[in-house]
Parts: sequence; structure tokens; C-alpha cells
Amino acid sequence: MNDQNCGHVREEALSKDTVLRLLESEGDGLKELYSRADRMRQEHMGDEVYVRGIIEFSNLCANDCLYCGIRASNFRVNRYTMTVDEILETVKSFESMGQTTVVLQSGETPGLDDGEIGRLIRAIKSETSLAVTLSVGNRSREIYRFWKDCGMDRYLIRFETTDRRLFARLHPDCSFDERIECLHTLNKLGVQTGSGFMIGLPGETLEVLADNILFCRELDLDMIGIGPYIPHPDTPLADEPNAYAGNEEIFYKTVSVLRIVNPDAHIPATTAFDAVFPGVGRDLALTRGANVFMPNNTPLQHRKDYLLYPGKPCVDENADQCATCVMMRIEAIGRKIGRGPGHSLKIRDKRLQ
Ligand code: SF4
Repeated sequence: MNDQNCGHVREEALSKDTVLRLLESEGDGLKELYSRADRMRQEHMGDEVYVRGIIEFSNLCANDCLYCGIRASNFRVNRYTMTVDEILETVKSFESMGQTTVVLQSGETPGLDDGEIGRLIRAIKSETSLAVTLSVGNRSREIYRFWKDCGMDRYLIRFETTDRRLFARLHPDCSFDERIECLHTLNKLGVQTGSGFMIGLPGETLEVLADNILFCRELDLDMIGIGPYIPHPDTPLADEPNAYAGNEEIFYKTVSVLRIVNPDAHIPATTAFDAVFPGVGRDLALTRGANVFMPNNTPLQHRKDYLLYPGKPCVDENADQCATCVMMRIEAIGRKIGRGPGHSLKIRDKRLQ
């Protein structure tokens, strides 16, 4: 990569043109992009990889996002909701596996009601030492505030794309502005806030991809989760391939540019990378800018019923097998398991407003 592309450009000053040039890196320039992102990850986030266990506690969803395998209109899905006691029992097994955060994920209502989710958060915080991340979609300020008061540490809600027309086409139940308002509300409440996007949604251009990366910086996110779009056969997008089909290297370029533009955000190596690059996908993401691993701790009997996209890895492994595999993978690339909660480096004076 030449100086103009990366080496002497201050991270916070990267323009859209520069981001686009980085995304087009090839040959030696691409190698330099990856190693620059890895260096920045090491300088800003250290060598620790934080392991955050996911529990997909309900696949009920009232929404019909066009790309999603558990959308309301997919009647082939076997629907389930775990009870609070089942979730709690699963969560408690985390501490013995070296995981310090639980990520509770579900479709967007129904399933557990918001009051039950609050009671669950309280129980986890009083009976374990784990940090709690929630990812259950759009809610009002009052509900987010209630969950924060119950002890919720973090919240994830992806914006998926900055292309408003594409967003409107893919999300019949939610507007882009509503989604962004949720992010602002959470941020103002002092909740560590995560968002992100899919790479290669049908109709996406490199310009949109660059906008997505820069929008993460504008939102000043604590956590940024991205992953390749993978068409699901039981959705209206079944026949619409990834916009970068045949050019999958762009998925990793995106991780690296994301790190360069957002040096101090937690960036997970998401499971979708393993679906595209079986066995090595997440490991490579960790060496190209990512610093978080999120193993699936959903009980085995529910894993096959939470397929947002096909080819999802680890659906036949139990939580113990998953945890062991994750630890081995992290050590194999010469990194350390993160100790402690791994809170945002940006915890700053986020005052209630
Ligand atoms: S992406 Fe989320 S909100 Fe949309 S249909 Fe799937 S689970 Fe529901």
C-alpha cells in the first residue's frame, strides 16, 4: 500500500475517497492493509480476544426482514422460546468456560415479554459476574431505560445498510430513522452500544459499503458487528446472490478498513465468516482487525431452529465443545483469552438526558 492509501493518513481523517481506495487494495497493498489493521488492533485493543457467549433464546419474530431465515412468514421454522429458568441455567455454565459476557439474542417480539427480560437481566447480574448484552430489536426509551436499570450493560442493534432505499425494501416493518433513533437513545442512556451492517446485500455498491464503514464512526459505536450477506433459501431473497459473489476477499477488506476507521471499537469475528470460509473464517477476521469471538451457547436442541442464513457453523456442537474449540482457535493464532468483562474502551461520561 502506498502512503496515500494508508500509512501516513491519520485514522480520524479518512475520507470516503480514501476508504474506497483501501477497499480496492490488491497485491502488496492488500497485504499492507491487513497488517496495518492488525497493528492498529494490537495498539488500541491489545492481544486479548474477548469471548462473549451467545444464547439465542427465542426465534419468534413479528417482523419480515426479507433476508432473514426466521422471518415471521417463514412457516418452515420450528418456533421456540426458552424459559427464564432454562436461560439462567445456560448462562450459569458460562463462568466455568472462561466467558465473561452473555449475549441474549432473539427475534423482535413476541417471545419473552419485556418485563420477563428485565427479571432475567436482574437474575443474571445478581447470580453471576457476567456482563449482559441484549439484542432483541427496536424498543421505546422507557423499555431500554428499564433494562438498563435492571443491569443491562450493552445493546446490539444493526443498521444493516446506510442505503435508505435498500433498507426500506428489506425491512417492511421498520424505518431507517426508527432504527437510528434506537441507537441514539441507547447511547444517551449510557448503554454500551453496538451496531453494524451486512456486506454485499443485493444492490449494494462499493460506495454504500464505504458509507456503512464511515457511518459506524459517525455513530461513535462501542461495538461493531459486520458479516457477509448469505441468501437464505426460504426467503424472498433466495435467488439474489451476494453483491460481491466471486470477490469474497472484500469481506476481509471491510473488517480491516473498519478497524482503521474505528480504532478503539470492539469488532467481533462473526460466525457468518465461518459460513463463507469454513474452519478459518473467524480466525482470519481476528488477524485482520477483529478482537472479539462470540461462540454459540444456545442449547443444542434449538440451534438448527435459529438459522438466520444457511451454512451456519457449530449447529451440531454442544456448548462445551464450542468453548473448547474457541479457546484452541484463539491460542492457535497466538492471542490471549480476554479476562474481565471487556467493556468498551470508550466508557466516557455518557450522561442521562
Ligand atoms: S432480522 Fe431480526 S427482526 Fe428481522 S426478521 Fe430476522 S429476527 Fe426478525
